[in-house]
Amino acid sequence: MAKYIFVTGGVTSSLGKGIIAASLAKLLQARGLNVTIQKFDPYINVDPGTLNPYEHGECYVTDDGAETDLDLGHYERFLSIPTSQSNNVTTGRIYQTVINKEREGAYLGKTVQVVPHITDEIKRRMLMLGKKGYDIVITELGGTVGDIESLPFIEAVRQLQWELPEEDCMVVHLTLVPYLKAAKELKTKPTQHSVKMLSQEGVHPDIIVCRTEEPLSPEIRRKIALFCNVKIEAVIEAMDAATIYEVPLLMMREKLDLICLKKLNIVNYHEPELNRWKEFLDKLKYPKSKVNIGLIGKYIELQDAYKSILEAFVHAGAMNECKVNVVNVHSEFITEENVMEKLGALDGLLVAPGFGHRGVEGKITAVKYAREHGLPFFGICLGMQMSVIEFARNVLGMKNAHSTEMNPDTNEAVIDLMEEQKEVTAKGGTMRLGSYPCDIKKDTLANRIYGTEHIRERHRHRWEFNNKYLEQFEAAGMVASGRNTESGLVEIVEIPVHPFFIGVQYHPELKSTVEHPQPLFVNFIKASREYAEKKQSSKTQILEEELS
Ligand code: GLN
Repeated sequence: MAKYIFVTGGVTSSLGKGIIAASLAKLLQARGLNVTIQKFDPYINVDPGTLNPYEHGECYVTDDGAETDLDLGHYERFLSIPTSQSNNVTTGRIYQTVINKEREGAYLGKTVQVVPHITDEIKRRMLMLGKKGYDIVITELGGTVGDIESLPFIEAVRQLQWELPEEDCMVVHLTLVPYLKAAKELKTKPTQHSVKMLSQEGVHPDIIVCRTEEPLSPEIRRKIALFCNVKIEAVIEAMDAATIYEVPLLMMREKLDLICLKKLNIVNYHEPELNRWKEFLDKLKYPKSKVNIGLIGKYIELQDAYKSILEAFVHAGAMNECKVNVVNVHSEFITEENVMEKLGALDGLLVAPGFGHRGVEGKITAVKYAREHGLPFFGICLGMQMSVIEFARNVLGMKNAHSTEMNPDTNEAVIDLMEEQKEVTAKGGTMRLGSYPCDIKKDTLANRIYGTEHIRERHRHRWEFNNKYLEQFEAAGMVASGRNTESGLVEIVEIPVHPFFIGVQYHPELKSTVEHPQPLFVNFIKASREYAEKKQSSKTQILEEELS
């Protein structure tokens, strides 16, 4: 039988509930327990797949092809175990299930209501992963206590607190303890109010995690404990950390994991085994070199739009003991005239995924610069497609080469819609999604990087390399080094004469974790570091020659 920990949030959004949930899960996993995390989101979209990054940040894709909340990315990066469709549930999905059942006649004769029908469906899904052999299922509730949308979820937790044995269920509430500069004081009132609101909805937290910029004094802890009806050791300080990967260690110092184990009456655990985690943190904190990597995209002002890519850089940087300084370059403003000025100081170039035609010409110009200057290049999904278009236009001389996504009428559609996509009109969940097998050609860059000829990576796109042109590309020096095992679709392209030029149709960033950094990222950073070193040594040589 699994035990359940619910993580709620109060006062404001963006307090880092996902990171706290993932950190707690990491600690419990490090103590030998089998843990998973799921997220319940209160919005009405069935999944976040149709939301644009301005609304919701990155859309994270699981092996089984679910388009999910980006917090699932944190869960995988921390735990190194894959999540699935079951790990992310929205209000939309709950209602869709209940309404479909109603249409099928499952409730014949009954009025279908929020309580019990919607809350029953929420509870069913909350308990579902518990039947898959996990010791602990952590459930993060999206939104903030007091939101109208989150009421049915809080109500479901209230019911479960009664229905499950007391030692099988607990609630961790995350709040903010703001520091008022003028008063030089931490303020507990917002926390008191949010716990009060949660209590009014019938849920009493067992632990209060306080996000704070300043350490919590014993008096503040006592005050929160007193007003919020928890034990003083259950008031946990969550100070701002230099990196999210330090949070598990901060939580361990506060004994968050031990308090949970005690409440859940779990006695079978050992000292946390976090050697690899700590090794990673050491490498991250004390890098021996630095590279400047250009991230060419159109959502550069948004931290969350390229979340998994940025985190994969952190993992790969640590692996190389190298600090990765990501330079955001807005693709819309890159032109032939300014490309040197914008990209000249970089040591590597990653052209980002994306949709729609805004900014693509800038991406193509950036690829051209990297190809012609021997600058390490890594294209992901749309970034790979842009590298194909650039090669077609500037090497193969196909002046009209384009993707039919941006130019449906082009007579040189080197990137085209897949046959099975041509009839698709609905937008939700209809892309090529999830994990697909890929065969890698021997003795290619991809083969050297992966060290194998068979891989599986995750996809999220509709367009593909048009195999009609493959022979022409290969004859001119762009090789398809990875192809889908069944369909032969091109998944990886590379240019062997270039020091490091690789484009992938899939999203390798989704599988990079702290303990298993993604090999393409690791090797891209390595190549960029070598490029930087070469640049530096040729600068030194010129200087020495000038001085002698
Ligand atoms: N828009 C492109 C496609 O759908 C690329 C998608 C992506 O970068 N994820 O094929």
